[in-house]
Amino acid sequence: MARRRPQPSHPRRAVAAHFTREGRPKTSYRTKSEAASAAQLAWTLQRAELGTYRCDYCHQWHIGKRFRDE
Ligand SMILES: [Zn+2]
Repeated sequence: MARRRPQPSHPRRAVAAHFTREGRPKTSYRTKSEAASAAQLAWTLQRAELGTYRCDYCHQWHIGKRFRDE
């Protein structure tokens, strides 16, 4: 029952999740529910379908479109 060791992730990708396409840091949310509220608001205002994810870079939550799996 050895814990599976996490694959050495691609650091660049983890960093990418923290920034917008324009290279600015994304808004961080301390909790998933805060992020979910923001995602809900984005849907209401812009019909933008956003997901929430935990950032490997800052360990907070962001909203955004899911990154494609390579
Ligand atoms: Zn982040």
